[in-house]
Amino acid sequence: TSYGFRDVQEGEKQGLVNDVFHKVAKRYDIMNDVMSAGLHRVWKNAMVAALNPRKDPGYKVLDVAGGTGDIAFRIIEASDRLAHATVLDINGSMLAVGAERAAKKELSDNVTFVEANAEELPFEDNSFDAYTIAFGIRNVPHIDVALKEAHRVLKRGGRLLVLEFSAVDMPLLDRFYDEWSFKAIPHFGRMITGDAEPYQYLVESIRKFPNQRDFAAMISKAGFSRVTFTNYTGGIAALHSGWKL
Ligand code: SAM
Repeated sequence: TSYGFRDVQEGEKQGLVNDVFHKVAKRYDIMNDVMSAGLHRVWKNAMVAALNPRKDPGYKVLDVAGGTGDIAFRIIEASDRLAHATVLDINGSMLAVGAERAAKKELSDNVTFVEANAEELPFEDNSFDAYTIAFGIRNVPHIDVALKEAHRVLKRGGRLLVLEFSAVDMPLLDRFYDEWSFKAIPHFGRMITGDAEPYQYLVESIRKFPNQRDFAAMISKAGFSRVTFTNYTGGIAALHSGWKL
């Protein structure tokens, strides 16, 4: 279903995404709670539990599309504040909010913020123990390129974890979810940021994202082994996992 929203050309996709996150950076964390009814916290905690980061100062994780640092902070806490996280995002406004939050949590020594594109990572091959990306990969115009980059910068034995909205596989929940995402989310977007259209675009992007199986196949194609996925909340979100072996 398209709900009358125009198709976005690939070229303008990144521009639209950037506009959304520049606009909402300061209110991003509140928006997440409102739009997911708090569920994003549960999903993110589950992702970090699945990662089970080593409690070791040599443990290096790259959190791509890391925005305001939510995943990175959780990983560092789970490592007893020993691990180091690099938060990479294409959007300086989101990273600025993240840096402020890191300072408040006294985690600045454990985090580095890097403004760059997921499709062109400014890191050497075999640099990280883990690559995480939460609610970010569907915003990247060339997902295959981003996945290849993930594979390149991971060490052998490194772990890929992707948390993303996915295909709901429960009757009734899917209908409720449609109402929620196509009506409530753009409405909240207008209330909080004054503009509904960028949120309509984000909701559309969820519908266009490949389902669990197809996305798992893309991850394998990028070179990852032992690719699996776990559904959260009836498939509203899913966690995909792969290893660079
Ligand atoms: N991971 C954070 C979280 O879960 O709260 C933020 C997710 S936010 C929905 C999506 C993020 O993806 C935004 O901060 C946006 O700037 C970033 N992003 C979009 N396209 C990107 C790209 N090509 N490379 C890196 N980051 C990108």
